[in-house]
Amino acid sequence: MSWDIVGHAWAIDFLRRSIAGGRAAHAYLISGPAGVGKSRLALRLAQALNCERGGPDPCLQCRACKQIERGSYPDVRVAGMASQTAGLKPEEAARQRDLKIDTVRDWLADINLRPYEGRRRVFILHDAERLTEAASNAMLKTLEEPPPYATLVLVAHTAGELLPTIVSRCQPLKLRPVARAAVAAALRERFNLATADADLLAAWSGGRIGWAIHMIAHPDELEARQGQLDELIAMQLQPRAAGFRWAEERAKQYRSGEQAAVFEALGLWQSWWRDVLVTAAGCPEQIIHIDRRAEIEQAAARFHLAEIERFVARLNDTARQLRENVNPQLALENALLHLPGA
Ligand SMILES: [Zn+2]
Repeated sequence: MSWDIVGHAWAIDFLRRSIAGGRAAHAYLISGPAGVGKSRLALRLAQALNCERGGPDPCLQCRACKQIERGSYPDVRVAGMASQTAGLKPEEAARQRDLKIDTVRDWLADINLRPYEGRRRVFILHDAERLTEAASNAMLKTLEEPPPYATLVLVAHTAGELLPTIVSRCQPLKLRPVARAAVAAALRERFNLATADADLLAAWSGGRIGWAIHMIAHPDELEARQGQLDELIAMQLQPRAAGFRWAEERAKQYRSGEQAAVFEALGLWQSWWRDVLVTAAGCPEQIIHIDRRAEIEQAAARFHLAEIERFVARLNDTARQLRENVNPQLALENALLHLPGA
């Protein structure tokens, strides 16, 4: 098979069977964590539906496959936060939270035209979890009855944040994190990483190959992440004032439009404490931060299991509160009050 995707064999198998049997759905909803391979799968689906060799696999060699890969194929239309914020200054772009009705209307504007070159017109919408209610409603009718030659593909982090009326009209494809060993093997084979480096990056990735590949290309981000984790781990040993300063800085960052960075920091913090939790619970082979085993074991021995568990859950609540527009400084300070040992 030429899908060139790490993991998700069941989803690929499902798609190629339905394409081969002429039973491809008119609308798909691909969901899963960031970097797990959702966009890649959407692209491959568009290629498989238009490949000049007829499918059900994309050959990745023909003109259609290559143009779709480059984003220059007239019958594949892609939209999302990136297209909506194209041309804006970075800080203006970061401040935009929702996919707007105009973006959806532009995306589907010419859906009633027949394919120019290919067999099917494919409409891919990224960041679908950010659709406003109005924007969702604007696509409902199209989702219900798309033209016979059109396929809609919605890509979202979680299907739970979409209107049920949208979800129920799509064929769901829920992508889960890929097995650590499969990510490590791909990093060794495709990027020539040494075994130890591949294992470490695969563990850190939490099964998100796209994240690992991004980090190979941006070693500075990886280094910053390690520094950030040092700071977060140190917080349990520092006076409370240091924690509150941290909360204040993150809140400032959040308000200035860098929400993603704050969520990333919370996720990183949680991943470390989850490692402490699984170690305290007697499953240390599952940890993500395999380079910090000693520190994790120390923390696991120092705190009560229930206390650790409560803090891991608390960080979920904090992320949810931020999404619900709770005052970010209050939400982060509240999390700190539950830090084990605080
Ligand atoms: Zn092809």
